[in-house]
Amino acid sequence: MDLLEKKRIVIMGVANQRSIAWGIAKSLYEAGAELAFTYQGERLEKRVKQLIDEHMPGSLCVECDVTSDEQLQQAFSVIQQKWGYLDGLVHSIAFAKSTDLDGDFVQTSRDGYHLAQEISAYSLVAVSREAQPLMKNGGSIVTMTYLGSEKVIANYNVMGVAKAALEANVKYLANDLGPHQIRVNAISAGPIKTLAAKGVKNFNTVLDVIKEKAPLRRTTDASEVGDTALFLMSHLSRGITGEVIHVDNGFNIISM
Ligand code: NAD
Repeated sequence: MDLLEKKRIVIMGVANQRSIAWGIAKSLYEAGAELAFTYQGERLEKRVKQLIDEHMPGSLCVECDVTSDEQLQQAFSVIQQKWGYLDGLVHSIAFAKSTDLDGDFVQTSRDGYHLAQEISAYSLVAVSREAQPLMKNGGSIVTMTYLGSEKVIANYNVMGVAKAALEANVKYLANDLGPHQIRVNAISAGPIKTLAAKGVKNFNTVLDVIKEKAPLRRTTDASEVGDTALFLMSHLSRGITGEVIHVDNGFNIISM
């Protein structure tokens, strides 16, 4: 069953084969979607292009640092020229300084707070604005969040606050874009060992707790997130918008 046949979807946030965005790309590609990738800066260009050439040859690939309005406009203008329209967008992007992911939240600096908000929360607003005119037949936008927005999780600090803003963005964007038949949702994934996760101190301890306490007694795999993103991109989820879906083997329901 090719649920996403003829669907054109942009994936933002692949850094390497461990990225959640890559797990999502694999699910969408297997379901028949045509994909375009954006990557952050020349540093990642070679690695991302290699991955695509090896596994999804022919996919579009353009640079886009979300802190630059110019790069955002340029990236979506290339997509507009090559494709003409868009059905979906995956936003799998976040960043905070490592010094802000350790110790007391109260010590968060002004610029560290601002940076985390800009890259991890505001960027969803900016990319949705660029994507909207291309989603001529409606569309689906999916972003990635984490439980640290709802509960205090040691060392997640400034990123927890950025994820809370991101989840509020999902609701406001869903309301704005709903009349255009564009849906906006978030997936709250359980912890997965990726490049970004390495920045959070004591990450391995969190994984151990999940193996012990999560109802399904295991940690989250990127393929589980990928298949939920596939559902959210497909017509099967056509009645869902403004929602945060937990893909964490049930960990969020447990009282610690
Ligand atoms: P990752 O490091 O593989 O991906 C993060 C991506 O953000 C990278 O591709 C990086 O290039 C991109 N990025 C950072 N700053 C950028 C900028 N200025 N412009 C453009 N791109 C930029 O790590 P990941 O864990 O796959 O993270 C993807 C998303 O999933 C993030 O939003 C993260 O918070 C979220 N998430 C991760 C976990 C986890 O445990 N790994 C759990 C829940 C949610």
